[in-house]
This record gives sequence, C-alpha cells and structure tokens, in this order.
Amino acid sequence: MAHRHEVIVVGAGGAGLATALYAAREGADVAVVSKLYPTRSHTGAAQGGIGAALGNVEEDHWEWHMFDTVKGGDYLTDQDAAEVFAKEVIEAVIELEHMGLPFDRLPNGKIAQRRFGGHTKDWGKAPVHRAAHAADRTGHMILQTLYQQCVKHNITFYNEFHVTDVILEDGVAKGLVALELATGELHLFQAKAIVIASGGFGRIYKVTSNAYTLTGDLQAILYRKGLPLEDMEFYQFHPTGLYPLGILLTEGARGEGGILRNGLGERFMERYAPTIKDLAPRDVVARAMYLEVREGRGAGPKKDHVLLDLTHLPPEVIEKKLPDITEFSRIYLGVDPLKEPVPVMPTAHYAMGGIPTTLWGQVIQDEKNTVVPGLYAAGEAACVSLHGANRLGTNSLGDLVVFGRRAGIHAARFAKDADYHELTEEHLGPSRERIERIKNSTGKEKVAVLRAELQQSMMDHASVFRTGELLQKQVEILKELMDRYKRISIDDKGDAYNTELVEALELGYLLEVSEALVHSALNRTESRGAHAREDYPERDDQNWLKHTLAYKVADGKVAFRYKPVVLGRFEPKARTY
Ligand SMILES: Cc1cc2nc3c(=O)[nH]c(=O)nc-3n(C[C@H](O)[C@H](O)[C@H](O)COP(=O)(O)OP(=O)(O)OC[C@H]3O[C@@H](n4cnc5c(N)ncnc54)[C@H](O)[C@@H]3O)c2cc1C
Repeated sequence: MAHRHEVIVVGAGGAGLATALYAAREGADVAVVSKLYPTRSHTGAAQGGIGAALGNVEEDHWEWHMFDTVKGGDYLTDQDAAEVFAKEVIEAVIELEHMGLPFDRLPNGKIAQRRFGGHTKDWGKAPVHRAAHAADRTGHMILQTLYQQCVKHNITFYNEFHVTDVILEDGVAKGLVALELATGELHLFQAKAIVIASGGFGRIYKVTSNAYTLTGDLQAILYRKGLPLEDMEFYQFHPTGLYPLGILLTEGARGEGGILRNGLGERFMERYAPTIKDLAPRDVVARAMYLEVREGRGAGPKKDHVLLDLTHLPPEVIEKKLPDITEFSRIYLGVDPLKEPVPVMPTAHYAMGGIPTTLWGQVIQDEKNTVVPGLYAAGEAACVSLHGANRLGTNSLGDLVVFGRRAGIHAARFAKDADYHELTEEHLGPSRERIERIKNSTGKEKVAVLRAELQQSMMDHASVFRTGELLQKQVEILKELMDRYKRISIDDKGDAYNTELVEALELGYLLEVSEALVHSALNRTESRGAHAREDYPERDDQNWLKHTLAYKVADGKVAFRYKPVVLGRFEPKARTY
C-alpha cells in the first residue's frame, strides 16, 4: 500500500511529536510513523525534569545554563547549539505550560524547579534550581501533552508501523518503507521531507534504563547506506540504576537531597567533586561509583554496588516529589527508601552521539556540513551536538522540544517548495528480501542468544571504563556476531504481529550501532566526558577537540572523518566540580 504526505516523521516520542506539531503549525500535511503507539514511546519514562533558566526559585540566566551545558559536555558541545538551546528552552517550557502540561507549582503559582547534576549558578559556584518537573513523571506529561496537540492539529498517525528502509537516491531523501505489524504488509511512504526521531539504542548493553524497543533502528539504516554517525563513542551511564536491574532512579532524587554512600557509609562524592558533591555530572559520578567498588568500598555481600540514601529526607518530600521511583524501589527490590538506602549502580542510559545535524535538524553527510536534501533528525537519534561528551540531566527533554520544533519548522518550509519523487513497488524490494531471508532461513543461530552475547560483551568491554585492549576484543566479538547473524532463523513464519521477526530486525540494528560505537571508542585515544580510556586517562584538546564522523565501509570496517567543535564564549578548561 502507498501513502503520501509532505512531511513524514519517524517516531512518536517527544522529539517526533514536537517536530510533527510545529511542521503542522507551519501548514504542512504531516504524518507520524511509529513502531509503538505514541504514548508508549520511551519519552514517557523520563522522570526528573526539563531544565530551563526560568529563575522561578532563585536567580538564573540562560548564559549559566549554556555554560553548564558546554562544561558538562567536556567542551565537545557545539557552543552555537548550546546558545540556541539555553535561550529557546525557556520559551519552550512556557509553551508546554500553555498547552496544559501539569507542572508542579510553587506556592506563588509559578512552575516549580529542582536541582539536577551539573546545573549551577554563578559559573559553577553552587547547584541551582533549574529542572521544571511534574513529580517524577515529567516525560509522561510531556508526551501526553504533545500527543493531544498533535491530535488537535489533525496529524495522521501510522501506529505500530516498523520502518525498515529510508529511500535515498541521488543524495536525496524520497520516502520510507514500513512493515505494518498487525498484518505483516509492507507500505511505501512518499514524502517531500522526512524527519528521523526514532530515539536511542541503550539495548546494546545488558544493564540499561532503556526500553526493549530502543534499538537504534534508523541510525543503523542510515549508517548502512553510507551516511555517518557522529560521536558514537560517547555513551552515557546514569549513576543511579536500581541494582542489579538497571531501572532508573532519577537524578531528581539527589536534586531533592539524596546522598550516595559507599559500603562504609561514607559520602564518597566529597572526594571526587568537593563543591557540588552528589550533584556532579553523570560521567563524574558514574566513574566515582566504579572506583569505590573497585577499591573494595562497595556495599552488600559482594561489595559490588553503592547506596542511594534518602532516609534523612522528610517522608512527604519522597512520597510527593518522587512517587514513581519510590514505588520502583519497593516493588522491584522490596526496599523502602523512607527507611533504608537503595542499592544502585550505573546503568546505560543515553546516546550523546547519533545522526549529525545542523541547528535546524538537517542531516549532514560530511565534515563540511553538506546537507542531505529532505532529510532531518531530532531527539536522541540525532547529534546536534548539544550534549558533547556528556549530557546533563534534564537537557534531553529540552533538546526534544527545542530542536524538534526547529526541525519541524524547517522541514515544513522545505516541503512547501519541493516536489514529490516517483516511487514504485520496486522500492519495497530490499526490505522484502531482508524479511524473507530471515523468515526462510534454516540457520541455527537464535536471536535471543546472540543479543544476550552482544549485551554482555558490550558491558564487559565498552561501558564506563574502556581500554584499547578491551575495545579491540569487542571489535573481534562484533565481527563474529555479525557473521553469526547471517545464520539466524525464527520459528514464527506468520504475518500478524510477528514480534520474533521484529526482534531479528532489531538485533541487526543493535549490531550496527555497536560497531560504530566500539570503533569510534577505539579510535579516540583520550578520555573525555563519558569516554574514559584507562590507557589514555587525560583529555587531549591538542588532538581530539573534534567530532568523530564514523562511516561504515564494510562489515567490521569503519572509516573516520572529523568535524571541528564550534567554540565561542567559553574556552576549554580543566573540568572540576
Ligand atoms: C528512565 C528514563 C528517564 C529519563 N529521565 C529524563 C529526564 O528526567 N529528563 C531528561 O531530559 N531526559 C530524561 N531521559 C532521557 C529522555 O527521556 C530521552 O532521551 C528522550 O525521551 C528520547 O526521546 P525521543 O523522542 O528522541 O525518543 P523516544 O521517546 O524513545 O521515541 C522513539 C520513537 O521512535 C519510534 N521508532 C523507533 N524505531 C522505529 C522504527 N524502526 N520504525 C518506526 N518507529 C520507530 C518509537 O516507536 C518511538 O515512538 C530519561 C530516559 C530514561 C530512559
């Protein structure tokens, strides 16, 4: 079946819905294609808040937010992106409020704000209240609010449609192919502009805060087609994953006064970040936790985790401001945060790298910022680069609305002056062949087995700390897994809701994004932000103050090009907290 819309957005999370909404407001005919029902998108899991210098609780300025973002990103953040972001996120939060988002309120009626890691006043002197929040369900509220607005603006939704291909010909984006999950039918989508807003890929790791569906599908599809992925080596581990499951406990818990303690009961962050302690950025805290455990000061019988202590907080703060994470802790661990500290360890959380874009979401294909006409990206799938080497908490929800809005406006304006491209049934061919190959395979390899091996090995060789030796080992493991992937087979040969087939497709994407990540990490011989190389422990601005563009040249072979970091107001400095 064929469909035609001026702007088609892939993904119905916060980024996709913001993009679609603003494209529709520009007057474009807009559709959203999503493998999940929109309000099941992972933005709904975001807990702690959206950062904006509203200054409702105390003095704050967009310049401070910009500075924190650049410093938090270990100076790999493009400063033009940080400036646009820190200014526009203020307006974006107020706009969400006007759309009806039920933010928590201060007694004077203004939006409440809390502290979060790496957000400071006066250029790093002390933590600041910057995160606007709706209890610890901020993402859920954003998703619901944006979805309602999209429905109001008559945007067409293709729900439970799994995109399997982006049609790129003559360097131009022309359309999409998607598998309708209910029927198994392949659909052809013709578009003047396409926006990729398909989220992250935390499922490459065993311990992760990410949903099963976060498998980097569209990053992998574009990478296979020869487009680059930017800064993939920077993958964020969030400090407080519920141990051993990895389910997230928001940084808002520390923002409300929670303290990390080691097995000896020490507030160990005093040693690593004397000024802002537990509210240091995530890369700093995650490394500190690993070091405490490694040096024998972990908690529990195996001394293999640390503790998040909320017991000194008033019970009403925990129950009212952190209701969801309190429940998670009670349900999954049987630990009541009101009475005892909660076991935690870092969990794979957020992709700083992804599909490179301009400040208007246009996908770029090289170090000269040459755009791919008609192709856009936004949200966690994209790399603007706002987050540099390490994202600050609350800056992703802000990123979705600021850069989603920009991508939507630009895509709609581009579409007004563009023509549709001719597409035929033949464009379904590559997707059909891939699906038939998997369905008809008599190979002996199983998706669940390969995926488990991938996730464990990525955890062992390419997580918080890396070395050249471990990464090289992972390169070899990935080659072997990719080879075995060619021999996977599935038992379900049916058409309707063939989740086994979908998981097989997704495993292919996980392998591709892992390949880009591991090669990029092996290539970058320095430590910066979330990329901590034990064999190269120092940041090396002389050689590495630049963005990585990784290109797939063959299975197991990756080529690199580099893009300068956009500097500006803030000179790179040693990063202390
Ligand atoms: C537990 C948790 C808590 C968080 N808390 C915060 C927070 O407090 N503040 C903050 O700023 N950030 C937070 N984050 C990060 C933030 O929530 C995410 O980075 C952000 O929501 C990503 O939004 P997105 O729109 O890019 O992607 P998603 O919301 O993940 O949406 C992706 C969409 O793409 C679709 N899709 C993917 N592949 C395909 C395909 N092949 N075909 C069709 N559709 C496809 C999916 O169906 C989905 O609709 C948190 C993250 C987690 C995991």
